[in-house]
Amino acid sequence: MKGSPVSESLLSLEQVAFAYRIGSFRLESVSLQMEAGGFWGIIGPNGSGKSTLLKLAAGILPPSSGSVHLRGKRFSSLSRRQVARQLAYLPQSVMPTFDYNVREIVCLGRYPHLQGIGFLGPRDRDVVDCSMEQAQIEDLAQRRLSELSGGQRQRAYLAAALAQEPQLLLLDEPIAALDFDHQYRFFELLSHLTEKGLAVAAVLHDLNLAARYCRSFVLLDKGRLIATGDRNAVMNPDRLADVYNTPVDMLMSADRSCPVFVPRLG
Ligand code: ADP
Ligand code: MG
Repeated sequence: MKGSPVSESLLSLEQVAFAYRIGSFRLESVSLQMEAGGFWGIIGPNGSGKSTLLKLAAGILPPSSGSVHLRGKRFSSLSRRQVARQLAYLPQSVMPTFDYNVREIVCLGRYPHLQGIGFLGPRDRDVVDCSMEQAQIEDLAQRRLSELSGGQRQRAYLAAALAQEPQLLLLDEPIAALDFDHQYRFFELLSHLTEKGLAVAAVLHDLNLAARYCRSFVLLDKGRLIATGDRNAVMNPDRLADVYNTPVDMLMSADRSCPVFVPRLG
């Protein structure tokens, strides 16, 4: 008799569906395989189910039906610490419970790796330093979270997620508060990290940054998976126009390497 297939993928969602206890929203069957080095963009209009999908992928919400496996194991069979050593999840908004300074927040990212009473060793401190450097927040190390701009805070949380040294990084609208320059640097950093084997899945509203950097896409609308696959398979102007309910033109970047989507005005 054949057992249920357990994927070798880093993260595997098989026919995952989900409904909240209240309200009529339902995420319909989604199947995805995320591999090491993958860079996924999750796109779709407000309320289409992007954050819900990311929470299912992070093991925060249990699917109503279907299954989610992290390296072949169900979340229910893994401790929080085991999950946190493999996967970092950055929610859309974080409510800090205490007004830590930036370095303290980044150090918290090391906790899944600490043994015993939880002191950071030299390697942990190196990882913290490196994560702060990558997120460009070294000069903010002693600043309290309450004293940061939204974008600086977002970068502090990114550094904490990097300090976790995950294999999979799940980001919900990570660039919403970043300025133009930091958005671009953020994607360059993610791109670089995926080349080294990190898998990233990010919920994004900026279709053009998604088109430029992501290599796989999930397009959702009203809880339904409209398309998944590479850029050509998913980011088609007619389909985007349909989903976003507005006419969309597809232009080309100046170096003609990448499409640029703009709403057709007037
Ligand atoms: P997106 O991230 O694409 O904007 P979400 O996944 O956050 O969408 O939400 C999808 C739908 O689920 C929305 O209609 C939202 O109102 C609803 N929803 C989100 N969270 C909850 C919740 N905790 N309980 C009930 N409904 C929710
Ligand atoms: Mg959302």
